[in-house]
Amino acid sequence: MAATVMRSFSASYIPRSQGSSALGLLPFRRRWASTFQQAIAASSPRTTWTRNEISDIYNQPLMELASAAGTVHRRFHKPSAVQLCTLMNIKTGGCTEDCSYCAQSSRYDTGLEATKLSKVESVLEAAKIAKENGSNRFCMGAAWRDMKGRKSGIRNIVEMIKGVRALGMEACVTLGMLDKEQARQLKEAGLTAYNHNLDTSREHYSKIITTRSYDERLQTLENVREAGIHVCSGGILGLGEIPETDHVGLIHSLATLPDHPESFPVNKLVPIKGTPMFGQEPVKLEDIVRCIATARIVMPATIIRLAAGRVTMPESEQMLCFMAGANAIFTGEKMLTTDCNGWDEDKAMFSRWGLVPLQTEASQVTTDPVSVHHDFSILDDGRRMEADERYQAHA
Ligand code: SF4
Repeated sequence: MAATVMRSFSASYIPRSQGSSALGLLPFRRRWASTFQQAIAASSPRTTWTRNEISDIYNQPLMELASAAGTVHRRFHKPSAVQLCTLMNIKTGGCTEDCSYCAQSSRYDTGLEATKLSKVESVLEAAKIAKENGSNRFCMGAAWRDMKGRKSGIRNIVEMIKGVRALGMEACVTLGMLDKEQARQLKEAGLTAYNHNLDTSREHYSKIITTRSYDERLQTLENVREAGIHVCSGGILGLGEIPETDHVGLIHSLATLPDHPESFPVNKLVPIKGTPMFGQEPVKLEDIVRCIATARIVMPATIIRLAAGRVTMPESEQMLCFMAGANAIFTGEKMLTTDCNGWDEDKAMFSRWGLVPLQTEASQVTTDPVSVHHDFSILDDGRRMEADERYQAHA
């Protein structure tokens, strides 16, 4: 019955601009609220979303949407905990693909010099520094279309993964398209997660990339999932898309996979001179928050990563994203080829806002280098409740 209500409503989208004064639409608004309220009340993730249901959620009044996402966030995640990740480029530039936002594509004159694959030792040194600064996930990116014919490359990457795991950190790589056998090899090395973004909605995709299809991307995600590796897949906002349709389309593609990705990175376009995307109108904060909040409600157990472009967001804007459900950041010296907020800056931000580093099962980084305000709440009866206790209560 509930599914019938949601389906019947799914054909009746009400634009945000009509607001509550559209009295004639009250019956529809009630059903709209019903879709939204059922989503907020969910106790487990579901993969049967229709696109219109997600659109209904995305188009809620922003304050209600963000507040509901915060409620869902507290049910599925430890409040105030944000994962610190560091992303290193292990092979820069010279990529044959035509992703129109990317500094590393050989098709665009961005002034970036191509390099060979980094040495295993230098990568592990960088991972050690990241760990010492509190990151518990180390991600490694190579500017490749795929892994075909890269036997020695994969051997070295296997050593990097093993080394990062031996440090007690989560290891994630992003190496382009992957077949089943390559995924199996990476799993055997101990890889925690594989990143492969869908970037945008299926409809907008061909305006951004023409050298590989949306379905090829989905096939890589399937190969990763089949190998037993966590899936990290998200998008880039600000690629000239229409937020109301393309953000919804992106979330729908991922939220209806057989299992939700464990990780959903939300990137804000960093416009690179020389790429076709340079000069694009920047994505609005409200659309970033809307996208994060919708993803939080639709994929409640997923870790949402505030990724590239965070460096351009004032702290107050970042906080809105955390309140709407983001619970991971990239921190360190660089994020691939773009600037990144540094560890010291993030430690200070954590301290100001009472955030704590998110510990994960797959990592054993337990040192807390961040001097934080102690995380507790005072209950109505005056008792003090620690953050861990509060999480248990919500779980
Ligand atoms: S995003 Fe990745 S695949 Fe696309 S051009 Fe850049 S490095 Fe190549």
